[in-house]
Amino acid sequence: MINLDNLVRENIKRLKPYSSARSEFSGAADVFLDANENALGSPFTQNMNRYPDPLQSSLKNKIAAIRNIDPQRIFLGNGSDEAIDLLIRCYCEPGRDRIMIMPPTYGMYGVCADINNVEKIAVPLRPDFNLDTDAVINLLGPSVKLIFICSPNNPSANMMAGEDVARILQAAQGLVVLDEAYIDFAEQPGWLQSLRDYPNLVILQTVSKAWGLAGIRLGMAFAHPDIITVLNRVKPPYNVNELTQQAALQALAQSPRKDGMVAELLRQRVYLQAELPKLPFVKKVFSSQANFLLVRFESARPVYDYLLRNGIIVRDRSTQTHCEECLRITVGSADENRQLIGLLQKYGGQQ
Ligand SMILES: *Cc1c(COP(=O)(O)O)cnc(C)c1O
Repeated sequence: MINLDNLVRENIKRLKPYSSARSEFSGAADVFLDANENALGSPFTQNMNRYPDPLQSSLKNKIAAIRNIDPQRIFLGNGSDEAIDLLIRCYCEPGRDRIMIMPPTYGMYGVCADINNVEKIAVPLRPDFNLDTDAVINLLGPSVKLIFICSPNNPSANMMAGEDVARILQAAQGLVVLDEAYIDFAEQPGWLQSLRDYPNLVILQTVSKAWGLAGIRLGMAFAHPDIITVLNRVKPPYNVNELTQQAALQALAQSPRKDGMVAELLRQRVYLQAELPKLPFVKKVFSSQANFLLVRFESARPVYDYLLRNGIIVRDRSTQTHCEECLRITVGSADENRQLIGLLQKYGGQQ
């Protein structure tokens, strides 16, 4: 059985966290003269003169209800990128501990490790973008504190097989961070309901993709309450601002609207999956469990440049492992997707 406490960096265990005015007081009061706020209000219609709830209780209760999970198992951050950085800072001793990543994958895991001077072990996915579980397990050891698995994976758009994830969870001596940023677009459910079975599992989700709220910067980490406590001790006291908390509460009350957008984007994904393979210079459209498609071209860069000249930006992923000549194309609105296909149909004549 994993001892979660032993995984935490010594200096973080010893840390006496900053105690904010709002976290020292709990209860009801009429007059708040404890935080040097401006008692008169804000030059603004919405009063923002008070510091926000440092632990975001209302928002966590709402997310707990939607995701059917205990609020004690929720950490909220300034995007899930904040959770990635905090996990590395709380669990990886620079110059000694390591993280494991599975390229091609989301770039922030590696960048955060580099910033923190934490070494990364790269275990490439297999050419079909599934986990190379045997290789992963062979390279595990006590210094591998965090294993990042992205599922559905960015940029390959596939979901990782459940038995592979389970094997890694069982073999890991550190935390397994499962990034489910795109889970609302997937056919299969994610791993949230398995948190109780795996104390070393951390699940990342975000409101940036399916919920359509990339601008408010709100990400979630779900994990054992002891892991959540560690992250909360290290995070900046007011890391999720009041505007974000209010906007998220409003948006989360409208999950049917989110479900409607997801359904429409999935229809649009079907449209692109039908149209792209008809183009003679498209070699392969990879199947997708996300709101984007990885597409292999005969030659990716000229297509990228052609689209750019015509006002459409996609992501060139062709330098990534197993992604030779591949562009990553986000599923857009019906109109945007028609524009994209229309332009590509004219490509060839004028390259
Ligand atoms: C977009 C994305 C995120 C970003 O999340 P934020 O909450 O916007 O910081 C995280 N992980 C993956 C795999 C992503 O593609």
